[in-house]
Parts: sequence; structure tokens; C-alpha cells
Amino acid sequence: MEVTNQRPAPDPETSWEIRKHTVWKTLWSLNIKLKLKHFLWRCLQNGLATKDALYKRFGIGNKVCQCCGEDMETIEHIFFTCPTAQVIWKIAPVRWEGLANLQGNLWRWWEAVLQAAKKSEGVGRIQLTANILWQIWKARNKVTFQQEITDAKNIVEKAQQEWIEYEAAMESDRGSNPDLEKATLIQQRWEPPKEGTIRINTDAAISAKMVRSGLGIIARNWRGEVVRAKGITARRKGIAATEEALAIRGALEMAQIAGWTTIEVQSDCKHVVSLINMDNGQDCSLQTILDDIDVQKGNFESCTFTFVPRMVNQCSHALAQFAVKATRDFEWEGSFPVWLSSLVRKDMGVVTPFCN
Ligand SMILES: [Zn+2]
Repeated sequence: MEVTNQRPAPDPETSWEIRKHTVWKTLWSLNIKLKLKHFLWRCLQNGLATKDALYKRFGIGNKVCQCCGEDMETIEHIFFTCPTAQVIWKIAPVRWEGLANLQGNLWRWWEAVLQAAKKSEGVGRIQLTANILWQIWKARNKVTFQQEITDAKNIVEKAQQEWIEYEAAMESDRGSNPDLEKATLIQQRWEPPKEGTIRINTDAAISAKMVRSGLGIIARNWRGEVVRAKGITARRKGIAATEEALAIRGALEMAQIAGWTTIEVQSDCKHVVSLINMDNGQDCSLQTILDDIDVQKGNFESCTFTFVPRMVNQCSHALAQFAVKATRDFEWEGSFPVWLSSLVRKDMGVVTPFCN
């Protein structure tokens, strides 16, 4: 509704307009895929073709939810009260239990989500929530048009996967800028190893809030091509040095499985690298891992460990960030996700021997 009169009185209408404006503004400024923004926008405008909406508008079809066969299929039913939706919000790593009383009105619920998320770890929670709503809608369409049921666990995993992939892609884009350019200027960028050697970069990431640790391991050959990449995820409150040491041990395991004989492991954790390189490095909390590394080292013709600055270690850093948010371990060999390949190209610097 357009407000055309000039009355200066601060009526409820005004605050409603302000609230609406804030919700739209926040929606468009979210760091999520454009298609998700459009989707949420349609949801909030009541523009989704739910059965209830179609019935009301055109008097066609029946209004009952095809998923449960119990209630009218309104947008709120799909997202909150349908039994599948209820399981989803129980198992999802993002919870909005405090907003249960607003579930009867998606707009108000979403407004409250935006408010609540301002407080703690907000951005990530909203992004994941948006992805969950989207996957619920996609699953609903599958039931409706293809009679295919997706279970709640798959819906949550899909949402989480798309969220972290998007995040990682953004990170790889950001990685292109100041740090790497600086690194190039001072001749500190990732360099391929000698022919015949595999260079493996490792890194760890810790999320105290999610109580998760992620390890990233990436192996490249003398041409700078990725040969394997891996992420290990764990539900534990990690300690930095321990996680870094575990990532290095993971690199040796990867190398052994792949059958490489000459390797160089790089980490941006000076402490752990120097402990490994010392003859008698001692750190009680790391001792078993250091011992493992010492034993595994003997399985290679050549196996060295070097410290590199973080800016030279961006690919494994991104993988570790990816792993910390992932629901399970992952490993790629032969073909790699686009975001990783682009990060690898950037790691090689703007001018690579293969492009020019
Ligand atoms: Zn239902």
C-alpha cells in the first residue's frame, strides 16, 4: 500500500513499512546465491505455488499436502508443521526453537530469524537456514511432481553441502586479492616441487562455536597440478597444534596410499614443523602423533617437512575451512571441484607456464 497522505503522526503503518524495508534490504544483502534470494523473496511475498495458494487463487486441485496427506499445504505447513519439516529442524545444525511460536507466519518467523541471527554467528546461521528452506521446497516439488520422497537427513545434508560449497567458492574468490598479490611481490607464493616430487600442503581449521575441527590436505605435482585433495572432519574441540600435526600425519597416509615415494610436506604451523624436524622434539600433548609421523617417514625414499607462510598455504587452508563445515570426510582424485581448481590456478600466480 502506498502512503500518500502527509500526516506526520508515527502510526503503526510507518513502523510496518520500516520493518518491511529492513527485511527486504537484509534479504538482498545476504551473501547467498541469487537464486536463493529470489526464492526467499517469493516465499515472503506469498508467491510460492503451494496447493493451498493454487486452490485459493484458481480453485484448482486439492489443498492437502502430498507429503503427509494430513493438512492443507500452506507455505508454513511445508516449512514447519509437515512431519518431514519437523524432523529437519530437529536434526539440522541450526536451531530456531525459540521462534516456534512464529511458525504460523513465515514472514514474522523470517523477520525474527534475521533479528536473532544478528547476535551470534549470525551470518552462517542465516545462510544455512536459507539453504534448508530451499532444499525443503525442492524436496516438496519432487514429491509433488515426481512422486519421489527425499528423507529429512538427505535434505539437511544437501542444504549443508550447498552452503559450504558456496562459502568455499567465495573464499577462493577472495583469496585472489591482496594477500596473494603481496605474496607474489615478495616472492612468497606457492611453487611447484622438482620433477618427480609430490608436494603436499596441509592445514587445520577449528570452529569453537560449532565444536568441530577440519583438516585440509592437497597434493600437487611438479607441474602444479592437483593430484589428490582431502578433507577430514571431526566433531571435537580441537587444539591448534594437535590438529596441524594430525593434518601432517594425514598427508603421510595419503602419500602412502597413493604410492608416492618422494614427497615434501608443507605446513604453516612453525611449531609442529620444527618439532618434527628436531631429532628430539618434545611436546607431550603431541607425542603419539609425532611418533606416528616419525615411523611413517621411514616408508618413503625421501620425505621432508617445511614451514610455509599462511599465504603460500591457501589451498589447504580453504580445504580445512571446507572440512570444518562438512558433515563427512571427502577426498578427490582425478577431478576436482571448480572452486578448488580456481584456487590452485591462483596459487600458481597470474602468469602460469600453461596459459601463456
Ligand atoms: Zn505435510
